[in-house]
Amino acid sequence: MERYSVSQEVLRTDVAGMPLEWIDYRDAVRLYHTEQVAYACGKSIYTVRGGINALTGLRSVVDVSSIIATHGNTHSLERNTGNYSPPLNNRTLFRRDGNLCMYCALPFRTSDLTRDHITPLSQGGRDVWMNVVAACRRCNNHKGGKTPEQAAMQLVAVPFTPTYAEYIYLKGRRVLADQMAYLLTHFPRTSPLHARLSGLMGGGRQPVLAVPNRR
Ligand SMILES: [Zn+2]
Repeated sequence: MERYSVSQEVLRTDVAGMPLEWIDYRDAVRLYHTEQVAYACGKSIYTVRGGINALTGLRSVVDVSSIIATHGNTHSLERNTGNYSPPLNNRTLFRRDGNLCMYCALPFRTSDLTRDHITPLSQGGRDVWMNVVAACRRCNNHKGGKTPEQAAMQLVAVPFTPTYAEYIYLKGRRVLADQMAYLLTHFPRTSPLHARLSGLMGGGRQPVLAVPNRR
């Protein structure tokens, strides 16, 4: 059986299977112990040994799954339907754009990317998913306080607001293949992430363009 370090995060879903969040092994064990795990649908990733039960003299052993469905109040409905917009932060923004500069299309490390406002804040642009892209420093400097049209620069992909399931995926630090496959089934059919993920799961190379240009 394949085994992972306990630093591997577990994907928690609600009882209907809607993705909720990443949890660490402590939270996972707590959910098992408090009998909030309705069912596990991923593979077993590690075994956590707990304390000795004073009554039975037995050591508790919890076999933690990569994906666990849990009981309880979740608010998943509002997040998985309607006009949910996840919080905007650079790490998930850069992952949305496949760590490519959306102007020169070259790959960069997260530390070498910046958040570009397509319509600059100085021209009334807003700090929202649809108005921001990953840009390398050089392209961002070159663009300055202009729109792409004013700077004669073209976006290589159209920005999008991640759905909740897409956001969970983008937030994942190290997403296992079965977790990825699971999240993928919750993405909209039109999600630009499909192409990237199927490439990853097929063991293929990541396509150069993270997101198709839908113009
Ligand atoms: Zn660039």
